[in-house]
Amino acid sequence: MTDPNPETSAGTCSACSTQNPAAARFCAACGGSLSERSSGRGYAAAPNESVASFALVSTVMPYASARSARTYKLAFLIGIAIPVVAVLLGQPSFALVTAAFVVPVVFILYLYDVNLWEDQPVRVVLGAVALSAVLAIAFTLLWRTWLQSQPGALLETAAGRFNLWAFLIPCVIAPVIAVILMLIGPVLLASRPAFDDLMDGLTFGVVSGVTYAAVQTLTVNWEVIASPVSGFDAVATWLPVIVNVALLKPIVFGCAIGIAAAEFSGLGEGYDGFTGRFVGRVLEAMVVLILFEAGLYLTGLLGGTTGLIVGMLWAAVVAGAVIVRLRTVLQHALLEGALEAAAREGSSKWSSGEDDFCADCEMPLLVDALFCVSCGASVRARTKDLRRAHSSTPTSGEGASA
Ligand SMILES: [Zn+2]
Ligand SMILES: [Zn+2]
Repeated sequence: MTDPNPETSAGTCSACSTQNPAAARFCAACGGSLSERSSGRGYAAAPNESVASFALVSTVMPYASARSARTYKLAFLIGIAIPVVAVLLGQPSFALVTAAFVVPVVFILYLYDVNLWEDQPVRVVLGAVALSAVLAIAFTLLWRTWLQSQPGALLETAAGRFNLWAFLIPCVIAPVIAVILMLIGPVLLASRPAFDDLMDGLTFGVVSGVTYAAVQTLTVNWEVIASPVSGFDAVATWLPVIVNVALLKPIVFGCAIGIAAAEFSGLGEGYDGFTGRFVGRVLEAMVVLILFEAGLYLTGLLGGTTGLIVGMLWAAVVAGAVIVRLRTVLQHALLEGALEAAAREGSSKWSSGEDDFCADCEMPLLVDALFCVSCGASVRARTKDLRRAHSSTPTSGEGASA
């Protein structure tokens, strides 16, 4: 529909033909940019950031508003400072244990904060977290015990000595099976009607991935933790290990599984299930984990502190890539899902209600909007509590143009 009157056609979206107010910068229905000035649209879950950014909080915690995101960033910084200080004080074993828990603990606080559990019993979600933890211990012990029983397959490979089994088991076979194990909990949860949204699938994937990463770290390093080492001589050796364990490894595991689990949930209402696209994302997660583990193993062959630092840099590259990948997937899902809803011309269950406000820029939202017309933030990327507080349970099929 094109409106011949230039005053009203100013707000008409070229992508979905929705009539927006003339001052709107973004389309309320599909999130598309309306003016030339805002052509490069930002990340739909945090519009002041670009999609191609390494911002961790708005990637794995898309429900966080601009204000609460600052709190989570601070929590991550404090969390990572604890093991780093512990290493500097000569307590690497303590550092290792605390490092493993930084991301899972902050993430579970976030889940409480945004009240993702809603009316569902907390034990349902905690059960899925526990399942990931138990599978991580059982499977890690299994492959490590088998590997240690193999003659000549030293786990702690000496510098420069490549052993085929010591490479294949932890770097190729274990990651492939681990991806399947990490997805069991998220898939069971995302199949429940209360959690069938794409954002739920993504969140359960991340929580399962970071839990598995933490428990695997503790299992693999159990000897170091059980008989604590201390001393200042190994600070340079331990710092790259701690940065990897506390930050990079949980990012890689969490994002890779989050992407796959989001695909299981799919764009629309209800979950998509075991589609070809989901299988593709699962394979992608396997490749990411293999690249991560194989890179650490191969750089470890360089030996000593050099190997550890190069390994940490490699882990940072993989973590950065997987963060941008998850942001791209989420951006596409939020915009594509809105375009689908706009095409159906019905109101979706994520739309804004009466007297509703944007969680990011605090400007009023149009009724039945999926995006803020001022900043372009996705209404879908906000907590269910906020959504419910303004729920209008729409009685008519009026669009955002009302
Ligand atoms: Zn539009
Ligand atoms: Zn806004």
